[in-house]
Amino acid sequence: MVILGRQGSGKGTQSGRIAERYGCVHLSTGDVLRAAVAEGTELGQQAAGIMNAGGLVGDDIMIPLVQERIGKDDVVAGGVLLDGFPRTAEQANGLEAMLAGLGQALTIAINLDVPVEEVTHRMMARGREDDTEEAIVRRLGLYDQETAPLLDWFDERGLLVSVDGLGEEDDVFARLEEVISSRLA
Ligand code: AMP
Repeated sequence: MVILGRQGSGKGTQSGRIAERYGCVHLSTGDVLRAAVAEGTELGQQAAGIMNAGGLVGDDIMIPLVQERIGKDDVVAGGVLLDGFPRTAEQANGLEAMLAGLGQALTIAINLDVPVEEVTHRMMARGREDDTEEAIVRRLGLYDQETAPLLDWFDERGLLVSVDGLGEEDDVFARLEEVISSRLA
């Protein structure tokens, strides 16, 4: 499964709940990068400046990072929910190739839909280190430019389902559960 949506759409929270409900691995590339920054690894050192500026870490770094993780036994056994990847056309093509190599295929791509005014408000309120006004504006711009076109990419493959991300967390989760369960049935 893949979940797409603007930063601040509630993707991270809902992804954790989906992974628990369906027994799959939640792979958040943002979490992986933040952990690498906290640990001060080489990856973290490469990513920190880009993340703080609201930019995108290079496809040459992100694709092998995901490839490495999704070949592991727990993912092969229980499946994976990708949160924050793919974010570019190159990453989407990379994902398609790596899944084909594993003899796996995507089941669903969820667009967690929250309007730009609402996510801006939410991000200002959560106060994460990379949530400066400048970085937020840059990230939302890059989302429209690089990531939103992927909605068509997934739609062309018959994988896209949009879910309204406005409202109470439990209500949004119930909507997600409905579309995922019907797709898995
Ligand atoms: P997120 O937690 O998904 O909002 O990611 C936080 C930051 O990590 C983003 O603003 C990017 O700088 C970086 N990042 C996470 N995932 C990716 C990705 N798939 N491609 C490029 N950069 C990413």
